[in-house]
Amino acid sequence: MVGENYDARKLASSGRTWKNWSGHQSCRPRDFIRVSGVRELSEVVAAAGSAGRQITTVGSGHSFTPTALSNDLLLDISRIAGVISVDRDSGLVEVGAGTILADLNRELDHLGLAMPNLGDIDRQTIAGAVSTGTHGTGISLPNISAQIESLKLMGADGEIRELKAGTDELLAARVGVGSLGVLVAVTLRTVPAFNLHRVDAPMDLDEVLSGFDRLTGENEHFEFFVFPYTRTALTLSRNRTDRPLAPRSDADRFLGDVVIENGLGDFALRLTGRFPSSIPTMARYSTHFMSQSEQIDVSHRVFANYRTIRFNEMEYALPVESGPEVLDRVLALIEGESFPLAMPIECRVSAGDDALISQAHGRPTVYIAVHQHQTMEYEPYFREIEKIFREHDGRPHWGKLHFRSAEDLAPSFPRWADFQKVRDELDPDRTFSNDYVKRVLGD
Ligand SMILES: Cc1cc2nc3c(=O)[nH]c(=O)nc-3n(C[C@H](O)[C@H](O)[C@H](O)COP(=O)(O)OP(=O)(O)OC[C@H]3O[C@@H](n4cnc5c(N)ncnc54)[C@H](O)[C@@H]3O)c2cc1C
Repeated sequence: MVGENYDARKLASSGRTWKNWSGHQSCRPRDFIRVSGVRELSEVVAAAGSAGRQITTVGSGHSFTPTALSNDLLLDISRIAGVISVDRDSGLVEVGAGTILADLNRELDHLGLAMPNLGDIDRQTIAGAVSTGTHGTGISLPNISAQIESLKLMGADGEIRELKAGTDELLAARVGVGSLGVLVAVTLRTVPAFNLHRVDAPMDLDEVLSGFDRLTGENEHFEFFVFPYTRTALTLSRNRTDRPLAPRSDADRFLGDVVIENGLGDFALRLTGRFPSSIPTMARYSTHFMSQSEQIDVSHRVFANYRTIRFNEMEYALPVESGPEVLDRVLALIEGESFPLAMPIECRVSAGDDALISQAHGRPTVYIAVHQHQTMEYEPYFREIEKIFREHDGRPHWGKLHFRSAEDLAPSFPRWADFQKVRDELDPDRTFSNDYVKRVLGD
């Protein structure tokens, strides 16, 4: 599975340098503490808070942005994990905030329950995933944070507050970018376990773009990948089914996840880094690997993919109706300027939601993501592509690379001022600010 060998804690204890999944973000915190449980967390936070220290909590380190970096106190709450309570009638399940999604999925499965939608990997913690607005795909399904009924948040005094439905505090803390306190537990609205039928099929890109509304409307979960310099898309449709299970073979998994979704393969990507002029030929060649395949399996096994190649990523959330035009403009820019981007662009959708600074706040959303191999330069290309996203009122994923700051982000979020009001109330001394939080949310 994705990042299976990746352990943020090991990295932290070796040489005291902490690095994120892509290896691009790193820090040397003054203290890195893996607390043993809620009581120790409270003692550590209260002591640091009263000493005026800066506190950041890290999840699994799967954000591409410097959101989880700290020069002062970095907290690891991975031991505050697992199911705390279950109400089978309502489907409400309270879990420790450090629970890894893969473990959550397995535990829910045993209870006959499931998350209604998930992103394309399952290595993140639930706290980290919701804090940055992590999402899957499906035009009638909002992001993961929208499944939160209530949550428990620890403030700089070490005290826990329960934030309940119907309050601005909860709407702020659901997607809080780590800036409001330490998430200790979340209560999730789960659904009865279900199976998904996944069909992967290559399609002509123009057909996908002209049929975008229909394809996203008639499939519960629809997304596609397209390599720059080609006009072939790999479409992925996932729908609920009662048919018998037919899991993918390892060979299918390898071809679908590793070859197509991860791009040309690590070796080929490194090669294109040395010989960028080979990218169009390599991209066209790789589309020959795209073929139709099917799978029926338990939902969480269908959602989660292998990600074997380390990369950096920028993803923007845009009004859904702008999807085809923006994607066309991005492809034209990459191809017109010969940008050396050899990994496929990913296009997904979601329903709008009401978290105050969610990327999908108040509007059905299309997400367009560009990737670059971890060994290759990305910034000049991502900066140029970002200009297109901004022209279409795009909002950046808080956990994926972007070059925005609080001043120019504020007008994109109708409830920005309400978020700041909650922040003043919950973290008046800015104990939970780091450089990234200051940049994107202000002082
Ligand atoms: C290979 C890969 C695939 C991905 N796929 C998707 C996808 O399909 N969809 C999508 O939307 N995103 C995706 N992402 C992005 C990822 O889901 C987010 O960046 C997510 O935030 C990472 O979770 P994490 O547990 O690693 O948190 P981290 O990256 O460690 O932290 C993220 C944020 O959460 C905060 N945080 C963590 N724990 C707590 C806590 N207990 N209390 C308060 N704040 C906390 C941190 O301070 C930070 O601000 C992907 C990333 C990678 C590397």
